[in-house]
Amino acid sequence: MPNSIKRRGLMLVLSSPSGAGKSTLARMLLTDKEKLELALSISVTTRSRRPSEIEGVHYHFIQTREFERLRDSDALIEWAEVHGNFYGTPREAAENALADGQDMLFDIDWQGALQLQEKMKGDVVSIFILPPSMAALKERLHRRAEDAEDVINMRLDNARNEIERWRSYDYVIVNEDLDRAYQQVQSIVTAERLRRDRCPGLFDFVSSLLDEKLD
Ligand code: GDP
Ligand code: ADP
Ligand code: 5GP
Repeated sequence: MPNSIKRRGLMLVLSSPSGAGKSTLARMLLTDKEKLELALSISVTTRSRRPSEIEGVHYHFIQTREFERLRDSDALIEWAEVHGNFYGTPREAAENALADGQDMLFDIDWQGALQLQEKMKGDVVSIFILPPSMAALKERLHRRAEDAEDVINMRLDNARNEIERWRSYDYVIVNEDLDRAYQQVQSIVTAERLRRDRCPGLFDFVSSLLDEKLD
């Protein structure tokens, strides 16, 4: 499709039980050499920063009081309590980006995905990432080595509950081979961008095609 055809941005939602590889796939999408040109929605969270995380890049790390202020002033499109911390999606950045035709990536849990699906309907494309086995999930959480043992155990306990939400997503990917899973995510983005109902600019394009005079 020609780049000149105007399109509204789409909201790509990735969810998974902790450790299934959602953040890894998100990172690959954001740094893709072929330029998928997705922008990350940077959530606010009350969780403490992990050693590898950077304020303003992975999250905005805030205090509970500030979170409550944002939530109560309707500055969050959605919010949820996950693994004992609060997380929320800032409204302004996301709405501006979408209106501008910028596609956005949301690394949010199932509660957030449901809220976005209700509030933003046609804009949302949701993908659920599954681990190949529970043993692999456990192994990955340990290998990541970013969370304390009790936090890992809580995340594993929560995994079953999260996996049960798989039915509310548009697409489901099993992240066994990372490259394969990534290719599958890419294909979804490519196809969803071509959906007719996302491209109001097609009306003008097709009219101009039909009006074109041939010699
Ligand atoms: P991860 O499981 O290693 O990705 O751990 P994180 O601490 O990064 O994420 C914790 C949970 O919070 C995950 O289920 C995320 O999908 C969810 N989460 C992150 N950001 C948001 C957000 O803005 N809104 C909501 N509702 N959930 C979020
Ligand atoms: P999540 O964001 O879903 O909690 P991460 O992306 O942090 O998960 O992945 C958890 C760990 O598993 C990381 O150490 C990551 O490098 C590793 N990982 C991700 N995908 C795969 C895969 N397909 N095979 C093996 N290890 C993986
Ligand atoms: P983590 O603490 O490992 O960074 O994130 C735990 C979970 O919270 C992940 O499943 C992540 O997708 C989710 N999460 C992060 N930010 C948000 C958010 O803004 N909203 C919602 N609903 N979930 C989020």
